[in-house]
Amino acid sequence: MFTLAIVGRPNVGKSTLFNRLVGKRLALVDDQPGVTRDLREGSARLGDLKFTVIDTAGLEEATDDSLQGRMRRLTERAVDMADAALFVIDARVGVTPTDQVFAEILRKKGHPVFLAANKCEGRAAESGLLEAYSLGLGEPLALSAEHGEGMAELAGMLRPLI
Ligand code: GDP
Ligand code: MG
Repeated sequence: MFTLAIVGRPNVGKSTLFNRLVGKRLALVDDQPGVTRDLREGSARLGDLKFTVIDTAGLEEATDDSLQGRMRRLTERAVDMADAALFVIDARVGVTPTDQVFAEILRKKGHPVFLAANKCEGRAAESGLLEAYSLGLGEPLALSAEHGEGMAELAGMLRPLI
């Protein structure tokens, strides 16, 4: 089954997108022995497409470990489990230094990477969407995970790989 890892810094809307794709078909990775609780896996449906999706869920929790170190490990683990990565930024905030670190991690991995600018409903996202081009990961897909906008375009992007 084609597997997509949703990656990006905390608060960009990864879990909102995961929940929209998975709905009630959530399987917690927690329950499986030897698998980190910081990744959630579910069966996604997007139009006629079916695939597995992984959410990097553990970055939000404060621990003694640095965010940067955890971010790198979790992201690499999720991407290693996946066929492709969907790298999400917050278009209302624009590109942050942390986003640039993520872009670098993903470039080094060499997996197919799709770039999504989330929270794109309304005009507050226009400049952030343009900034996303500076990450050097191609054309950003304008999404609103919360409002369900850009889902047909996301399907169109994934379809050739599935
Ligand atoms: P994560 O930390 O990347 O998993 O982000 P979450 O999915 O937990 O979302 C972080 C915050 O962004 C929450 O308050 C969401 O309701 C909000 N959010 C998610 N998607 C959107 C969106 O498309 N538009 C807007 N305006 N807010 C969103
Ligand atoms: Mg989350």
